[in-house]
Amino acid sequence: MLAGEAPPTPMPLATSLIAGRRVAGAGLRLPVMNPALGVEIAGLAEAGPAEVNDAVVAARHAFRTSGWPQASVEHRQAMLLKLSDAVFAAADELAQLECAALGVVMRELRERHMKRAALNFRFFAEVIGQARGEVYDQTHGYRSIVVREPVGVAALIAPWNAPVALASMKIAAALAFGNACVLKPSEQTPLALLRMVEILHEAGLPDGLVNLVNGRGAVTGQALVSHPDVDLISFTGGTATGRAIASEAGRRLKPVTMELGGKSANVIFASADLERALDAALVGIYSNNGQQCLAGSRILLERSIAHDFIDRFVARARAIRVGDPLNDRTELGPMASSAHRDRVLGFAEGARREGAELLTGGHAVPVGGAHSNGYFIAPTAILSPSPDILAVREEIFGPFASFMIFDTYDEAIELANATDFGLVAYVWSDHVPTVERAVRDLRAGVVWVNTPMMRELRAPFGGYKDSGLGREGGEACMQFYTEVKTVTWPSTPVNVKKIGTG
Ligand code: NAD
Repeated sequence: MLAGEAPPTPMPLATSLIAGRRVAGAGLRLPVMNPALGVEIAGLAEAGPAEVNDAVVAARHAFRTSGWPQASVEHRQAMLLKLSDAVFAAADELAQLECAALGVVMRELRERHMKRAALNFRFFAEVIGQARGEVYDQTHGYRSIVVREPVGVAALIAPWNAPVALASMKIAAALAFGNACVLKPSEQTPLALLRMVEILHEAGLPDGLVNLVNGRGAVTGQALVSHPDVDLISFTGGTATGRAIASEAGRRLKPVTMELGGKSANVIFASADLERALDAALVGIYSNNGQQCLAGSRILLERSIAHDFIDRFVARARAIRVGDPLNDRTELGPMASSAHRDRVLGFAEGARREGAELLTGGHAVPVGGAHSNGYFIAPTAILSPSPDILAVREEIFGPFASFMIFDTYDEAIELANATDFGLVAYVWSDHVPTVERAVRDLRAGVVWVNTPMMRELRAPFGGYKDSGLGREGGEACMQFYTEVKTVTWPSTPVNVKKIGTG
């Protein structure tokens, strides 16, 4: 350091947060990269099994001693509303941190992700205010009631593509139904979630109810899901990881929800409002940098409209502004990592080799200045002759649309369902009987008709086939995050048969 020069600011370190306090153990230090700049902006202190154990012990302790599981619904609602307000007030700070490690454009983070995170706490406050039980009195002389109780300690595992928006739903649901939890964010995007959990504590959340451990899946995640004192596991991430975690949970007989990958069909009939369908097809594959589970990544077009639709789609895709995610004019930021950029581009090359036509994109985009090392790629689209090529079968998780053309309704449905996934599906038509048939025939957990994605939090969300197990949503989360207990008693004293009286 030269005389008179300010000392360098130490890089922020994403630690764990256990019982309300930041903890950095002796584990590995990993870099956290800014994908728009291609530079390291923070470190991550990886939690090993000992630290994960401390987090689970802290959660169990809070579950036993904080009074939270027994607290009145009004008390829990008031706390959830405070947490919601605190997240809302910090939306800008959280969006900045999320943007730094994820690269999704600030506008989307501020307007969608952070609002959604704040809303998640408010939503579950409302859900618990409306919960009701069951009564059975059909058996003469008896009444049975069914009550729900918190389960205990939940392990919550989040992916990198929408860290705060997705993990906040899990935290809010676990807390609302009286549980304690340990969250493991993705090692790529630990910054905003760590700050969010800190903010929850600053807003008055009792220590130990929400703990956070940072680190890689194979180390920190594995230690968490195999911990004997974890009672249930809520996972959002890739299908291969989901299978591994579900097997671990199966061995231990722990309940799981699995929100996994997708390769969703966007089926557009000639009878659709094509202007709207075009806008939605573009948003469906290129928003959130194309890195979203519910992307409409397979666009199926009826032959009579295909040529014109593709021409217009490609022209618009080429006009998408790629660049600095902090700039409010930017429409597509960088891929989340250099490895992910290379993987996405690899699919374009592979598709060409397998006989698909590369309509646009398939290459990196140079963005100058400070961003010259960022992981930017052009919005990409291919036209595939068949559903069998790799780029059409695999989840690419990037700004990569695959078009296919159909002639008949049956062919459309066959193509739409010709996938191992079944998270969501989109259908566009103004012909009511066609819509009704498609809604019935599409094999997906959510079907959106004549609209881009519209997440109704009250309704179950989750996938068919390799896209998941279980559902998230108001009622679905109540079932997952509570144990159910049946209590039976007689309306008048029972005459118990006497045995052992000689
Ligand atoms: P991923 O499966 O690689 O990782 C998800 C999380 O699991 C990370 O925190 C990771 O560290 C952790 N993990 C990895 N191996 C683990 C192990 N053995 N034990 C415990 N934890 C482990 O997924 P990703 O790349 O972070 O996210 C992208 C995927 O997530 C895509 O497939 C996407 O479709 C899916 N996703 C699904 C939904 C949904 O709601 N269905 C939402 C968002 C993302």
